[in-house]
Amino acid sequence: MEIKNIYTQQLEFFNSNQTKEVSFRIEQLQKIKSVLIAHEDEMYTAIYEDFGKSKFDTYSAEFSLLYHEINIFIKNIKSWSKRRRVATGMANFPAKSYIIPEPLGVTLVIGAWNYPYQLSLLPAITAIAAGNTVMIKPSELPSRTAAVMAKIINENFPSKFLYVVEGGVETTTELLNHRFDKIFFTGSIPVGRIIYQAAAKLLTPVTLELGGKSPTFVLADADLKTTAKRIVWAKFFNAGQTCVAPDYILVEKKIEEEFLKTLAATITEFYDLKNGLTENYVQIVNDKNFDRLAKLIDREKLYFGGEMDAAKRLIHPTILQNVNFEDPVMEDEIFGPILPVLSFTNLDQAIAAVKDRPKPLSCYIYGKDRTQIDKILSEVSFGGGAVNDSIMHLSNSNMPFGGVGFSGMGSYHGKYGFDAFSHYKSILDKPTWLEPNVKYAPYTDFKLKLIKWMLG
Ligand code: NAD
Repeated sequence: MEIKNIYTQQLEFFNSNQTKEVSFRIEQLQKIKSVLIAHEDEMYTAIYEDFGKSKFDTYSAEFSLLYHEINIFIKNIKSWSKRRRVATGMANFPAKSYIIPEPLGVTLVIGAWNYPYQLSLLPAITAIAAGNTVMIKPSELPSRTAAVMAKIINENFPSKFLYVVEGGVETTTELLNHRFDKIFFTGSIPVGRIIYQAAAKLLTPVTLELGGKSPTFVLADADLKTTAKRIVWAKFFNAGQTCVAPDYILVEKKIEEEFLKTLAATITEFYDLKNGLTENYVQIVNDKNFDRLAKLIDREKLYFGGEMDAAKRLIHPTILQNVNFEDPVMEDEIFGPILPVLSFTNLDQAIAAVKDRPKPLSCYIYGKDRTQIDKILSEVSFGGGAVNDSIMHLSNSNMPFGGVGFSGMGSYHGKYGFDAFSHYKSILDKPTWLEPNVKYAPYTDFKLKLIKWMLG
């Protein structure tokens, strides 16, 4: 179906006010949940065929989050959508004041490929919870995954309300010619810039969920065994193709050797890739990314791993040591299973090096010394993160998830997502039984005195 037609249909449907009804929103969210449950197997197969992602990984990182947030929305939409009374103040006595949450309108969600279901459907679910219509443009890279999403959504929902548009750059470019009421984009920084520029032409508000190089501090008093487990899991989950994966390690010099040994032992314990791909590990999404990553493995700095299979697009978990900020692996977000380890002796210098670079999406700190932990938390700006863990902060829907600076703008998850797709309309509601005339001409000294008293 033509993009223009669907856009027009959605505009008309939104203007019919049906999506504003809380009962309608809850019904649609329940329907999305049952459609997903009914098609889970088909969706597992598609993503496995696209890049070897197992049912375990797909459930834990995609479906679980979708179901969790649907449940939160169903439970809270009614109270979140209610108008809220706020104090009025003397200047407007005897009026009352309230805020009315309202949906923005026709929205566009553009997804990234690395968690293809979650990154397209979660913002869409959030938009629906807030009362909008949605067009979803998933990433075209995992083509089977995009096709199955388009099939199950477009067969089960009217296009005037929710529609998946398949396609690549050309399709997105065409979509961007329409005046959406909100664009929610997840993807890379360079494409984020393109989206922001296109949105600016039509004054469309955007949420940009971008990427960046997320540092991971390992302090001298860190519990190395648990630290290694949590870092290895977070880094090599989805073969490192995770926006919030620890991109690189900054470890205190005096524990570097022991930390490296523990990391390597943990990788060996978690992943046995001698016979190729297993249920515990995924492929690199395509040849282009495989080639890009292969070039980043500097054999002279290789500490562990480095094995590759181009035919299967498989790169074993790899650790690089003695890395410095000038190395090619430190230029851009790695987005693959390569973990560079840099060491430091002075925490202030390590912090300064991180602050010299664009603000990252995440930052992780492993250690016990609260003074050092708090120093990093207060001095380094980043989207969100964790102390003695990685990635898991995003599973708590009571906290906003989003970047800052180059890692993005705006946030979502739970109420923060509802807010991202809502406008808060402020209303002053005044009776006519009192009309003090103080603000009207002709002005007098007495009126000025009164105004000073009332507004001062
Ligand atoms: P990408 O920017 O290449 O693509 C994202 C989307 O933009 C896709 O739907 C794609 O079709 C579209 N697109 C690509 N080029 C375009 C162009 N020239 N004009 C218009 N649209 C275009 O990103 P990706 O490779 O899918 O994802 C990887 C990036 O996304 C990484 O940087 C990662 O950190 C980031 N990411 C961020 C989050 C987050 O929540 N902050 C989550 C996942 C991924």
